[in-house]
Amino acid sequence: MSYLSDVYERFQRTNKNETEFCQAAKEVLDSLDILFQKENKYQKNAILERIVEPERLITFRVAWFDDAGKIQVNRGFRVQFNSTLGPYKGGLRFHPSVSASIIKFLGFEQIFKNALTGLPIGGAKGGSDFDPKGKSDAEIMRFCQAFMSELYRHIGACIDVPAGDIGVGGREIGYLYGQYKRLTGLYEGVLTGKKLLWGGSLARTEATGYGSVYFAQNMLKDRYQDFEGKTAVVSGAGNVAIYTIEKLQQLGAKAVTCSDSRGFIYDEQGIDLATLKELKETGTNQSLEDYLQKRPHAKYTAVKDYREGRNEVWSVPCDIAFPSATQNELNQEDAKELLKNGCTLISEGANMPSTPEAVDVFLDAGIMYGPGKAANAGGVAVSQLEMAQNASMLSWSFDEVDNKLKEIMANIYQQAASTAEEFDKKHNLVVGANIAAFRKVGDAMIEQGVY
Ligand code: GLU
Repeated sequence: MSYLSDVYERFQRTNKNETEFCQAAKEVLDSLDILFQKENKYQKNAILERIVEPERLITFRVAWFDDAGKIQVNRGFRVQFNSTLGPYKGGLRFHPSVSASIIKFLGFEQIFKNALTGLPIGGAKGGSDFDPKGKSDAEIMRFCQAFMSELYRHIGACIDVPAGDIGVGGREIGYLYGQYKRLTGLYEGVLTGKKLLWGGSLARTEATGYGSVYFAQNMLKDRYQDFEGKTAVVSGAGNVAIYTIEKLQQLGAKAVTCSDSRGFIYDEQGIDLATLKELKETGTNQSLEDYLQKRPHAKYTAVKDYREGRNEVWSVPCDIAFPSATQNELNQEDAKELLKNGCTLISEGANMPSTPEAVDVFLDAGIMYGPGKAANAGGVAVSQLEMAQNASMLSWSFDEVDNKLKEIMANIYQQAASTAEEFDKKHNLVVGANIAAFRKVGDAMIEQGVY
Protein backbone atom coordinates (compact mmCIF):
# COMPACT_ATOMS: atom_id res chain seq x y z
CA MET A 1 0.00 0.00 0.00
CA SER A 2 1.33 3.44 -0.84
CA TYR A 3 2.22 5.85 1.94
CA LEU A 4 -0.63 8.25 1.11
CA SER A 5 -3.36 5.63 1.04
CA ASP A 6 -1.95 4.19 4.25
CA VAL A 7 -2.27 7.60 5.94
CA TYR A 8 -5.78 8.01 4.57
CA GLU A 9 -6.87 4.59 5.76
CA ARG A 10 -5.71 5.36 9.29
CA PHE A 11 -7.35 8.76 9.06
CA GLN A 12 -10.67 7.19 8.10
CA ARG A 13 -10.48 4.76 10.99
CA THR A 14 -9.97 7.57 13.52
CA ASN A 15 -12.63 9.81 11.97
CA LYS A 16 -15.33 7.22 11.32
CA ASN A 17 -18.70 8.58 10.11
CA GLU A 18 -17.30 12.10 9.66
CA THR A 19 -18.23 12.27 5.98
CA GLU A 20 -17.48 15.94 5.26
CA PHE A 21 -14.15 15.87 7.12
CA CYS A 22 -13.10 12.72 5.22
CA GLN A 23 -14.16 14.33 1.92
CA ALA A 24 -12.07 17.47 2.56
CA ALA A 25 -9.01 15.51 3.70
CA LYS A 26 -9.18 13.08 0.77
CA GLU A 27 -9.23 15.92 -1.73
CA VAL A 28 -6.04 17.37 -0.27
CA LEU A 29 -4.31 13.99 0.04
CA ASP A 30 -5.15 13.08 -3.55
CA SER A 31 -3.45 16.29 -4.72
CA LEU A 32 -0.25 15.56 -2.83
CA ASP A 33 0.79 12.36 -4.57
CA ILE A 34 2.96 14.21 -7.10
CA LEU A 35 4.60 16.32 -4.40
CA PHE A 36 5.52 13.29 -2.30
CA GLN A 37 7.07 11.60 -5.34
CA LYS A 38 9.46 14.56 -5.63
CA GLU A 39 10.03 15.48 -1.98
CA ASN A 40 10.85 13.18 0.87
CA LYS A 41 11.02 15.67 3.77
CA TYR A 42 7.26 15.81 4.43
CA GLN A 43 6.98 12.06 4.83
CA LYS A 44 10.13 11.92 6.96
CA ASN A 45 8.68 14.56 9.29
CA ALA A 46 5.20 12.97 9.36
CA ILE A 47 3.67 16.28 8.26
CA LEU A 48 0.61 14.64 6.76
CA GLU A 49 -0.15 12.54 9.84
CA ARG A 50 0.18 15.68 11.98
CA ILE A 51 -1.69 18.11 9.74
CA VAL A 52 -4.90 16.03 9.63
CA GLU A 53 -5.04 15.87 13.43
CA PRO A 54 -6.46 19.05 15.05
CA GLU A 55 -4.21 20.58 17.69
CA ARG A 56 -7.33 20.83 19.84
CA LEU A 57 -11.10 20.32 19.53
CA ILE A 58 -13.23 21.98 22.19
CA THR A 59 -16.89 21.03 22.59
CA PHE A 60 -19.10 22.64 25.16
CA ARG A 61 -22.63 23.01 26.47
CA VAL A 62 -24.50 26.21 25.64
CA ALA A 63 -27.58 26.65 27.85
CA TRP A 64 -29.82 29.69 27.41
CA PHE A 65 -33.34 30.93 28.15
CA ASP A 66 -35.79 31.29 25.24
CA ASP A 67 -38.47 34.01 25.23
CA ALA A 68 -40.94 31.67 26.93
CA GLY A 69 -38.52 31.33 29.87
CA LYS A 70 -37.68 27.73 28.96
CA ILE A 71 -34.07 26.50 29.14
CA GLN A 72 -32.64 25.43 25.77
CA VAL A 73 -29.43 23.48 25.32
CA ASN A 74 -27.14 23.47 22.27
CA ARG A 75 -23.67 22.18 21.57
CA GLY A 76 -20.80 24.58 20.91
CA PHE A 77 -17.56 23.76 19.07
CA ARG A 78 -14.18 25.32 18.39
CA VAL A 79 -11.53 23.43 16.51
CA GLN A 80 -8.06 24.99 16.86
CA PHE A 81 -6.65 23.07 13.97
CA ASN A 82 -3.22 24.45 13.18
CA SER A 83 -1.25 27.37 14.64
CA THR A 84 1.94 27.04 12.60
CA LEU A 85 1.54 30.22 10.55
CA GLY A 86 -0.16 32.45 13.13
CA PRO A 87 -2.94 32.67 15.72
CA TYR A 88 -5.89 30.38 15.05
CA LYS A 89 -8.30 32.10 12.66
CA GLY A 90 -11.66 31.11 11.22
CA GLY A 91 -15.37 31.75 11.44
CA LEU A 92 -18.23 30.56 13.61
CA ARG A 93 -21.22 28.86 12.00
CA PHE A 94 -24.65 28.71 13.66
CA HIS A 95 -26.76 26.19 11.76
CA PRO A 96 -28.67 23.05 12.76
CA SER A 97 -26.40 20.92 10.52
CA VAL A 98 -23.29 21.82 12.56
CA SER A 99 -21.47 18.75 13.91
CA ALA A 100 -17.89 17.77 14.75
CA SER A 101 -17.49 16.59 11.14
CA ILE A 102 -18.65 19.89 9.65
CA ILE A 103 -16.49 21.95 12.00
CA LYS A 104 -13.42 19.77 11.36
CA PHE A 105 -13.85 19.90 7.57
CA LEU A 106 -14.19 23.69 7.71
CA GLY A 107 -11.24 24.04 10.09
CA PHE A 108 -9.08 21.80 7.92
CA GLU A 109 -9.91 23.81 4.78
CA GLN A 110 -9.20 26.98 6.71
CA ILE A 111 -5.55 25.96 7.35
CA PHE A 112 -4.86 25.85 3.62
CA LYS A 113 -7.03 28.83 2.71
CA ASN A 114 -5.33 30.99 5.31
CA ALA A 115 -1.88 29.84 4.18
CA LEU A 116 -2.71 30.85 0.60
CA THR A 117 -3.48 34.43 1.68
CA GLY A 118 0.20 34.81 2.59
CA LEU A 119 -0.84 36.44 5.88
CA PRO A 120 0.21 35.20 9.34
CA ILE A 121 -2.90 33.24 10.38
CA GLY A 122 -3.40 29.64 11.48
CA GLY A 123 -6.54 27.57 10.84
CA ALA A 124 -9.62 27.22 13.05
CA LYS A 125 -13.42 27.03 12.93
CA GLY A 126 -16.27 26.90 15.37
CA GLY A 127 -19.98 27.13 15.76
CA SER A 128 -23.09 25.53 17.11
CA ASP A 129 -26.11 23.49 16.04
CA PHE A 130 -28.21 26.48 17.20
CA ASP A 131 -30.72 27.50 14.53
CA PRO A 132 -31.04 31.31 14.34
CA LYS A 133 -34.10 31.02 12.07
CA GLY A 134 -37.25 32.24 13.75
CA LYS A 135 -35.42 33.38 16.90
CA SER A 136 -36.08 36.82 18.35
CA ASP A 137 -33.32 39.38 18.68
CA ALA A 138 -33.31 38.87 22.46
CA GLU A 139 -32.93 35.10 22.01
CA ILE A 140 -30.03 35.61 19.60
CA MET A 141 -28.38 37.87 22.18
CA ARG A 142 -28.83 35.42 25.06
CA PHE A 143 -27.54 32.57 22.95
CA CYS A 144 -24.45 34.55 21.85
CA GLN A 145 -23.74 35.55 25.45
CA ALA A 146 -24.05 31.96 26.64
CA PHE A 147 -21.81 30.76 23.78
CA MET A 148 -19.11 33.32 24.64
CA SER A 149 -19.33 32.51 28.35
CA GLU A 150 -17.40 29.35 27.55
CA LEU A 151 -15.50 30.36 24.41
CA TYR A 152 -13.81 33.42 25.96
CA ARG A 153 -11.34 31.30 27.92
CA HIS A 154 -9.97 29.73 24.74
CA ILE A 155 -9.53 32.83 22.55
CA GLY A 156 -7.63 36.15 22.43
CA ALA A 157 -6.25 38.65 19.92
CA CYS A 158 -2.94 36.71 19.72
CA ILE A 159 -4.39 33.26 20.45
CA ASP A 160 -7.50 32.60 18.39
CA VAL A 161 -9.65 35.12 16.52
CA PRO A 162 -13.13 33.90 15.50
CA ALA A 163 -15.35 35.64 12.92
CA GLY A 164 -18.64 35.05 11.13
CA ASP A 165 -19.83 32.31 8.78
CA ILE A 166 -23.32 30.99 7.98
CA GLY A 167 -25.77 32.33 10.60
CA VAL A 168 -23.20 34.65 12.18
CA GLY A 169 -23.05 38.24 10.91
CA GLY A 170 -22.42 41.70 12.33
CA ARG A 171 -25.25 41.47 14.87
CA GLU A 172 -24.04 38.17 16.36
CA ILE A 173 -20.40 39.34 16.36
CA GLY A 174 -21.62 42.39 18.33
CA TYR A 175 -23.29 40.31 21.05
CA LEU A 176 -20.31 37.96 21.21
CA TYR A 177 -17.86 40.86 21.42
CA GLY A 178 -19.83 42.62 24.16
CA GLN A 179 -19.79 39.47 26.28
CA TYR A 180 -16.05 38.87 25.73
CA LYS A 181 -15.37 42.44 26.84
CA ARG A 182 -17.50 42.08 29.96
CA LEU A 183 -15.84 38.83 30.94
CA THR A 184 -12.22 39.80 30.31
CA GLY A 185 -12.16 43.59 30.52
CA LEU A 186 -10.19 43.63 27.28
CA TYR A 187 -10.97 45.83 24.30
CA GLU A 188 -8.95 43.96 21.71
CA GLY A 189 -9.22 42.54 18.21
CA VAL A 190 -10.46 39.16 19.42
CA LEU A 191 -13.17 38.87 16.75
CA THR A 192 -13.33 40.08 13.16
CA GLY A 193 -16.36 41.10 11.16
CA LYS A 194 -17.03 43.74 13.81
CA LYS A 195 -19.22 46.76 13.04
CA LEU A 196 -17.40 49.91 11.99
CA LEU A 197 -18.11 51.88 15.17
CA TRP A 198 -16.15 49.52 17.38
CA GLY A 199 -13.14 48.24 15.48
CA GLY A 200 -14.51 46.73 12.25
CA SER A 201 -12.81 47.17 8.88
CA LEU A 202 -14.28 48.80 5.83
CA ALA A 203 -14.79 46.28 3.00
CA ARG A 204 -14.91 43.25 5.36
CA THR A 205 -18.62 42.71 4.60
CA GLU A 206 -17.97 42.77 0.86
CA ALA A 207 -14.67 40.88 0.98
CA THR A 208 -15.65 37.24 0.35
CA GLY A 209 -17.98 38.03 -2.55
CA TYR A 210 -15.70 40.63 -4.11
CA GLY A 211 -12.71 38.32 -3.62
CA SER A 212 -14.40 35.43 -5.39
CA VAL A 213 -15.12 37.71 -8.37
CA TYR A 214 -11.52 39.04 -8.36
CA PHE A 215 -10.32 35.45 -8.38
CA ALA A 216 -12.53 34.73 -11.40
CA GLN A 217 -11.19 37.87 -13.07
CA ASN A 218 -7.66 36.49 -12.75
CA MET A 219 -8.72 33.16 -14.23
CA LEU A 220 -10.37 34.97 -17.15
CA LYS A 221 -7.41 37.28 -17.71
CA ASP A 222 -5.12 34.29 -18.10
CA ARG A 223 -7.32 33.21 -20.99
CA TYR A 224 -7.56 36.72 -22.48
CA GLN A 225 -11.17 37.20 -21.38
CA ASP A 226 -13.17 39.53 -19.14
CA PHE A 227 -16.69 39.77 -17.65
CA GLU A 228 -18.21 42.03 -20.26
CA GLY A 229 -21.52 40.62 -21.52
CA LYS A 230 -21.26 37.37 -19.56
CA THR A 231 -24.27 35.84 -17.82
CA ALA A 232 -23.66 34.55 -14.30
CA VAL A 233 -25.59 32.22 -12.02
CA VAL A 234 -25.10 32.67 -8.29
CA SER A 235 -26.46 30.48 -5.48
CA GLY A 236 -27.14 31.73 -1.98
CA ALA A 237 -28.59 35.02 -0.80
CA GLY A 238 -26.30 35.84 2.13
CA ASN A 239 -23.34 38.12 2.36
CA VAL A 240 -21.19 36.17 -0.06
CA ALA A 241 -23.87 35.93 -2.77
CA ILE A 242 -24.98 39.56 -2.46
CA TYR A 243 -21.48 41.00 -2.85
CA THR A 244 -20.60 38.52 -5.59
CA ILE A 245 -23.57 39.85 -7.55
CA GLU A 246 -22.62 43.46 -6.78
CA LYS A 247 -19.05 43.09 -8.05
CA LEU A 248 -20.14 41.08 -11.11
CA GLN A 249 -22.50 43.90 -12.06
CA GLN A 250 -19.79 46.51 -11.56
CA LEU A 251 -17.49 44.56 -13.87
CA GLY A 252 -20.01 44.19 -16.69
CA ALA A 253 -21.52 40.73 -16.10
CA LYS A 254 -25.21 40.00 -15.59
CA ALA A 255 -26.03 37.86 -12.53
CA VAL A 256 -29.45 36.30 -13.04
CA THR A 257 -30.05 34.07 -10.00
CA CYS A 258 -29.89 33.84 -6.23
CA SER A 259 -31.28 31.23 -3.84
CA ASP A 260 -31.96 30.35 -0.22
CA SER A 261 -33.06 27.23 1.64
CA ARG A 262 -36.65 27.76 0.46
CA GLY A 263 -36.28 28.48 -3.26
CA PHE A 264 -34.59 30.48 -6.00
CA ILE A 265 -35.08 33.57 -8.14
CA TYR A 266 -34.37 33.72 -11.86
CA ASP A 267 -34.38 37.30 -13.09
CA GLU A 268 -33.52 37.29 -16.77
CA GLN A 269 -32.88 41.05 -16.75
CA GLY A 270 -30.33 40.69 -13.95
CA ILE A 271 -30.88 40.55 -10.18
CA ASP A 272 -31.97 43.90 -8.77
CA LEU A 273 -29.54 44.33 -5.90
CA ALA A 274 -31.45 46.99 -4.01
CA THR A 275 -34.48 44.66 -3.80
CA LEU A 276 -32.36 41.67 -2.77
CA LYS A 277 -30.50 43.66 -0.10
CA GLU A 278 -33.75 44.99 1.29
CA LEU A 279 -35.10 41.44 1.61
CA LYS A 280 -32.02 39.83 3.07
CA GLU A 281 -30.16 42.46 5.03
CA THR A 282 -33.03 43.52 7.28
CA GLY A 283 -32.57 40.48 9.53
CA THR A 284 -36.20 39.42 9.20
CA ASN A 285 -35.34 36.52 6.90
CA GLN A 286 -38.03 37.28 4.34
CA SER A 287 -38.80 34.78 1.58
CA LEU A 288 -37.13 35.37 -1.80
CA GLU A 289 -40.61 35.06 -3.27
CA ASP A 290 -41.22 38.62 -2.04
CA TYR A 291 -38.65 39.74 -4.65
CA LEU A 292 -41.46 39.37 -7.21
CA GLN A 293 -43.42 42.22 -5.61
CA LYS A 294 -40.87 44.68 -6.99
CA ARG A 295 -39.75 42.58 -9.98
CA PRO A 296 -42.93 40.83 -11.23
CA HIS A 297 -41.28 39.60 -14.45
CA ALA A 298 -38.84 37.41 -12.47
CA LYS A 299 -39.49 33.75 -11.73
CA TYR A 300 -39.51 32.12 -8.29
CA THR A 301 -39.25 28.35 -7.87
CA ALA A 302 -39.81 26.81 -4.43
CA VAL A 303 -37.52 23.98 -3.25
CA LYS A 304 -40.51 21.63 -3.11
CA ASP A 305 -40.85 22.04 -6.90
CA TYR A 306 -37.18 21.21 -7.57
CA ARG A 307 -36.37 18.04 -9.41
CA GLU A 308 -35.26 15.34 -6.94
CA GLY A 309 -32.11 16.28 -5.00
CA ARG A 310 -31.13 19.08 -7.38
CA ASN A 311 -30.47 22.72 -6.87
CA GLU A 312 -32.33 24.21 -9.82
CA VAL A 313 -30.02 27.24 -9.96
CA TRP A 314 -27.52 25.10 -11.88
CA SER A 315 -30.01 24.40 -14.68
CA VAL A 316 -30.15 28.08 -15.71
CA PRO A 317 -28.05 28.70 -18.86
CA CYS A 318 -24.96 30.78 -18.08
CA ASP A 319 -21.34 31.54 -19.01
CA ILE A 320 -19.99 31.64 -15.46
CA ALA A 321 -21.16 30.21 -12.11
CA PHE A 322 -20.59 31.22 -8.47
CA PRO A 323 -21.67 28.62 -5.89
CA SER A 324 -21.99 30.80 -2.79
CA ALA A 325 -24.33 28.92 -0.47
CA THR A 326 -22.96 25.84 1.32
CA GLN A 327 -21.05 22.53 1.12
CA ASN A 328 -22.03 19.92 -1.47
CA GLU A 329 -24.68 22.12 -3.07
CA LEU A 330 -23.53 21.22 -6.60
CA ASN A 331 -23.38 17.57 -7.66
CA GLN A 332 -22.18 15.64 -10.71
CA GLU A 333 -25.49 16.03 -12.58
CA ASP A 334 -25.46 19.77 -11.91
CA ALA A 335 -21.89 20.01 -13.17
CA LYS A 336 -22.79 18.20 -16.39
CA GLU A 337 -25.81 20.43 -16.90
CA LEU A 338 -23.72 23.57 -16.40
CA LEU A 339 -21.25 22.37 -19.04
CA LYS A 340 -24.01 21.39 -21.43
CA ASN A 341 -25.45 24.89 -21.14
CA GLY A 342 -22.12 26.48 -22.02
CA CYS A 343 -20.68 27.40 -18.61
CA THR A 344 -16.88 27.81 -18.76
CA LEU A 345 -15.97 29.15 -15.30
CA ILE A 346 -16.74 28.22 -11.70
CA SER A 347 -15.57 30.33 -8.76
CA GLU A 348 -16.52 28.97 -5.34
CA GLY A 349 -17.63 31.58 -2.81
CA ALA A 350 -18.82 28.85 -0.42
CA ASN A 351 -16.68 26.23 1.33
CA MET A 352 -16.53 22.94 -0.64
CA PRO A 353 -19.80 23.58 -2.55
CA SER A 354 -19.00 21.08 -5.33
CA THR A 355 -19.02 17.35 -4.62
CA PRO A 356 -15.81 15.46 -5.58
CA GLU A 357 -17.62 14.00 -8.62
CA ALA A 358 -18.65 17.49 -9.76
CA VAL A 359 -15.06 18.73 -9.39
CA ASP A 360 -13.90 15.83 -11.59
CA VAL A 361 -16.40 16.88 -14.27
CA PHE A 362 -15.01 20.44 -14.27
CA LEU A 363 -11.37 19.34 -14.28
CA ASP A 364 -11.89 16.73 -17.01
CA ALA A 365 -13.58 19.35 -19.19
CA GLY A 366 -10.65 21.73 -18.64
CA ILE A 367 -12.88 24.69 -17.79
CA MET A 368 -11.76 27.42 -15.38
CA TYR A 369 -12.39 26.06 -11.89
CA GLY A 370 -11.52 28.06 -8.76
CA PRO A 371 -11.80 25.84 -5.65
CA GLY A 372 -13.27 27.46 -2.52
CA LYS A 373 -10.11 27.45 -0.46
CA ALA A 374 -8.51 29.72 -3.06
CA ALA A 375 -11.48 31.61 -4.51
CA ASN A 376 -13.20 32.49 -1.21
CA ALA A 377 -10.07 33.37 0.76
CA GLY A 378 -10.83 37.10 0.40
CA GLY A 379 -13.09 37.05 3.48
CA VAL A 380 -10.51 35.74 5.89
CA ALA A 381 -7.78 37.84 4.22
CA VAL A 382 -9.68 41.05 5.01
CA SER A 383 -10.32 39.67 8.51
CA GLN A 384 -6.55 39.60 8.94
CA LEU A 385 -6.40 43.19 7.66
CA GLU A 386 -8.96 44.01 10.35
CA MET A 387 -6.65 42.40 12.95
CA ALA A 388 -3.74 44.48 11.63
CA GLN A 389 -5.78 47.69 11.92
CA ASN A 390 -6.88 46.79 15.47
CA ALA A 391 -3.32 45.97 16.55
CA SER A 392 -2.07 49.31 15.25
CA MET A 393 -5.14 51.20 16.51
CA LEU A 394 -5.70 52.64 13.04
CA SER A 395 -8.36 52.30 10.40
CA TRP A 396 -7.83 52.25 6.68
CA SER A 397 -10.01 53.60 3.86
CA PHE A 398 -12.31 51.38 1.80
CA ASP A 399 -10.07 51.71 -1.26
CA GLU A 400 -6.95 50.85 0.72
CA VAL A 401 -8.51 47.61 1.95
CA ASP A 402 -10.10 46.82 -1.41
CA ASN A 403 -6.79 47.33 -3.24
CA LYS A 404 -5.01 45.02 -0.82
CA LEU A 405 -7.78 42.46 -1.35
CA LYS A 406 -7.32 42.63 -5.13
CA GLU A 407 -3.59 42.12 -4.72
CA ILE A 408 -4.08 39.17 -2.35
CA MET A 409 -6.55 37.45 -4.72
CA ALA A 410 -4.16 37.95 -7.66
CA ASN A 411 -1.34 36.43 -5.60
CA ILE A 412 -3.44 33.44 -4.59
CA TYR A 413 -4.30 32.83 -8.21
CA GLN A 414 -0.66 33.15 -9.29
CA GLN A 415 0.54 30.74 -6.60
CA ALA A 416 -2.09 28.13 -7.47
CA ALA A 417 -1.57 28.49 -11.22
CA SER A 418 2.24 28.43 -11.14
CA THR A 419 2.36 25.51 -8.69
CA ALA A 420 -0.01 23.56 -10.96
CA GLU A 421 2.29 24.26 -13.88
CA GLU A 422 5.38 23.25 -11.92
CA PHE A 423 3.79 19.82 -11.48
CA ASP A 424 2.65 19.53 -15.12
CA LYS A 425 -0.98 20.09 -14.20
CA LYS A 426 -1.55 23.37 -16.01
CA HIS A 427 -4.86 25.02 -15.06
CA ASN A 428 -5.60 22.46 -12.33
CA LEU A 429 -6.05 24.93 -9.49
CA VAL A 430 -7.14 22.20 -7.06
CA VAL A 431 -3.73 20.56 -7.21
CA GLY A 432 -1.98 23.94 -7.43
CA ALA A 433 -3.73 25.44 -4.39
CA ASN A 434 -3.40 22.31 -2.27
CA ILE A 435 0.31 21.83 -2.95
CA ALA A 436 1.17 25.53 -2.58
CA ALA A 437 -0.62 25.74 0.78
CA PHE A 438 0.64 22.38 2.07
CA ARG A 439 4.26 23.30 1.32
CA LYS A 440 4.00 26.56 3.29
CA VAL A 441 2.46 24.94 6.36
CA GLY A 442 4.63 21.83 6.08
CA ASP A 443 7.91 23.76 5.75
CA ALA A 444 7.01 25.95 8.74
CA MET A 445 6.08 22.87 10.80
CA ILE A 446 9.46 21.33 10.07
CA GLU A 447 11.18 24.55 11.11
CA GLN A 448 9.21 24.75 14.37
CA GLY A 449 9.98 21.19 15.47
CA VAL A 450 7.77 18.24 16.38
CA TYR A 451 4.61 19.03 18.34
N1 GLU B 1 -16.04 32.14 7.54
C1 GLU B 1 -15.16 32.74 6.58
C2 GLU B 1 -14.38 31.66 5.86
O1 GLU B 1 -14.91 30.60 5.62
C3 GLU B 1 -14.31 33.85 7.17
C4 GLU B 1 -13.43 33.49 8.31
C5 GLU B 1 -12.76 34.67 8.98
O2 GLU B 1 -12.96 35.79 8.56
O3 GLU B 1 -12.01 34.42 9.94
O4 GLU B 1 -13.27 31.83 5.44
